Amino acid sequence: MTLSIVGGSVSVNMIERSGDDMMFNDEPVGEPKSVPRRVWRVAIVDDDQDVHQATKFAMLDVVILDRCIEFLHAYSNQEARLLFSKHDDIAVVLLDVVMETENAGLELVGHIRDTLKWRDTRIILRTGQPGYAPEEDAIRDYDINDYKTKSELTRKKLLTTLTASIRSYELIRTIDASRRGLRQIITSGASFAVEHGVQTFASGVITQLAALCGVPSEGLICAQADSPTADGKAANFSVIASAGHYSNLMNSSIDQIADQRIRDSLKHVLVSRASLIEDNAMTLYFSGHGNRPMAAFVDLPHQLSEIDHQLLEVFCANFGVCLDNLSLVTQLQSHAYRDQFLMLPNRLKFIGEIDAAIARNEQNRLVVLLDIDDFAETNDVLGHVYGDLLLKAVALRLQDHYGSDVFLARVSGDAFGLLGDSSVLDPEAVRLLFMEPFEIESTAHMVVVSMGVVALDGFESNGADVLKNASIALKRTKVHQRGYHTVFTREMGMQIRERAKLTQHLHKAFDSERLFLAYQPQIELSGGKFIGLEALVRWRNEDGKMIPPMDFIPLAEHSGLIVAMGTWILRTACFTMKKLKQAGTAPERIAVNVSMMQFRQPDFIAVVETALQDSGLSPHDLELEITESMTMLGTASIQESLACLKQLGIQIAIDDFGTGFSSLSYLDKLPVDRLKIDRAFVNQIDTPEGPRIAELITQLGKKLGLKVVAEGIESRTHWDALLEMGCTEGQGFYIAHPMSDAELTAWIANRNQ
Ligand code: C2E
Ligand code: MG
Ligand code: MG
Repeated sequence: MTLSIVGGSVSVNMIERSGDDMMFNDEPVGEPKSVPRRVWRVAIVDDDQDVHQATKFAMLDVVILDRCIEFLHAYSNQEARLLFSKHDDIAVVLLDVVMETENAGLELVGHIRDTLKWRDTRIILRTGQPGYAPEEDAIRDYDINDYKTKSELTRKKLLTTLTASIRSYELIRTIDASRRGLRQIITSGASFAVEHGVQTFASGVITQLAALCGVPSEGLICAQADSPTADGKAANFSVIASAGHYSNLMNSSIDQIADQRIRDSLKHVLVSRASLIEDNAMTLYFSGHGNRPMAAFVDLPHQLSEIDHQLLEVFCANFGVCLDNLSLVTQLQSHAYRDQFLMLPNRLKFIGEIDAAIARNEQNRLVVLLDIDDFAETNDVLGHVYGDLLLKAVALRLQDHYGSDVFLARVSGDAFGLLGDSSVLDPEAVRLLFMEPFEIESTAHMVVVSMGVVALDGFESNGADVLKNASIALKRTKVHQRGYHTVFTREMGMQIRERAKLTQHLHKAFDSERLFLAYQPQIELSGGKFIGLEALVRWRNEDGKMIPPMDFIPLAEHSGLIVAMGTWILRTACFTMKKLKQAGTAPERIAVNVSMMQFRQPDFIAVVETALQDSGLSPHDLELEITESMTMLGTASIQESLACLKQLGIQIAIDDFGTGFSSLSYLDKLPVDRLKIDRAFVNQIDTPEGPRIAELITQLGKKLGLKVVAEGIESRTHWDALLEMGCTEGQGFYIAHPMSDAELTAWIANRNQ
């Protein structure tokens, strides 16, 4: 029978019929399926038909390690490749060295090892010429296991060779499989740590089991007792996860499973609480304290090896523990999504709820972020216990009022989130809820809240962004309208994003030294003498656009960059001034603008001293411009710092004078040298308002014994008017624009001519 199918064309046919399909098809109809007989696949690749026949004859009915041998036949390198593309479980290849070419056999070895990457398949080379043997290198590199001349094709010799090869093939496979299995168990265990819910767990089990046993992820069912009775027997089982051709059974009760074999196995396992491994299927049991037990049914196209059994044991134990942990996970979930103090949903849950509303495309929904004004102060002054009571009272009032109509969450310390339909949730009505005082520890306590509001109008992408927008709006309320609410607008978001982007760019520009200083001359108005310079920072963006300091200084201040930037500006100005001095073209002083944040740094004085030391500039050549608002803060430390600078010999000017609201008595006490009339008042000279304020400031300066310098002189008229009112110094476009280093040098040279 075997002989009749040996032959070129027939062999291909044989290749196609030699898979599991054929074996299943051979099963007698009506009888229960039995597990297919497992075989070792051995490929004979040889262009000599006799070799095929002789080998088959010699090995007829041989059983090696409990399995028969199934021979696959190919007559050339080409045929062999086709054969290998259909079977990836060939244990041994008996390979002729010389076939269509001298090297056809060795080429095929290369194909097996390098292209197919089969490392486990054993290769036995055979040749008709006794003198011919492959190179030693080839034997080593390609892991060739044996080399035989065809005359050695006796039954005994073949049997020894094949047995040794198959044994080593199986060994390699086992080691590989156990390594793979362990890796899967480890990774699957880890991935389950983050999964929640029995259903997710169950479908995960299907996937993992399938991968573990190397079977397709189908034909697997997990069943679970809905409500176990005391004895466990009458429990109602149902399918909670299914895959592949069992998918349609999802959610059906165990009794609805048509296949009695599966039904019985599942029931048996769930009642006996032990896994059942049969020839053609396995039903695994997963126990769980406090959880309902679970069983997984898996069709097995082949018998499981010993190693598979061991892996499954580890798998079941591992996932039994996971199942146990499920209740813990559920508990943890409650902690993860609930504020344990107020027993309200927390920020995460609130975001999730907004996400869900967005996903359902719910229109007319409002998100209100509510923050208790001055809560931190209340906490500090009246104590945390009082603060806690207040929080509880606020939560209760909101809950009582809205019930289940509005989703209420505690978003952070004293901030609550509300999500509801705009017909129910009205920020103004929320505000009114707080008009009644709270009774805390028998005293009435008034609470004022500020709110940020976002309307879900179909543009929002996710809950986290919505909450971010709500807090942007809330911040606005806190600054401009405490005690009320602000509705978030797209422009607000854009402004914030623009600012964030610009801040990022500014940091980069500073780091890559793309900022530079411009210098604007100051002159004596009477004779035009060049007496000073003001250093002004400049930023040319990467696309060449100049960004005005009024736009980026506040960003630098906000992000704290102003400290490092200010130090750099100060030092650069000092070095420039020193250079001018050395060239003999310097005016009397250089003025540098200083921000409040810089000034407040504890090491500010030291920074100034170092800049002077390093540049070699005298303190008398330096003037620092501070703003009027800074002097207004009037803290002792500011006064102290100013006195200290003054003592060093540094001059102090108050910039933009007249725009703040400095108290005169206070001004009198400050160690200041100069007032700078803000350019807005110089500008007014041309308007009906006239030079009044500029005049006032000039007189004030005189009374206090201070010099006065006018900013923003743009015309001869300004100049003349200022001269007339007794203002002695000035700067402005009419005199000179702020200039780069080189422009300044040219400007000075031009004047000197
Ligand atoms: P500021 O200190 O009052 O600087 C004077 C501003 O008036 C400069 O604007 C200058 O270019 C501008 N200016 C001068 N003459 C005229 C004129 O005739 N007409 C008009 N319309 N404007 C004139 P700039 O450079 O845009 O700086 C604006 C503000 O940014 C400065 O006002 C200052 O508060 C701040 N700033 C500039 N550089 C620095 C710096 O290095 N550090 C700090 N902290 N702030 C700076
Ligand atoms: Mg200035
Ligand atoms: Mg100014």
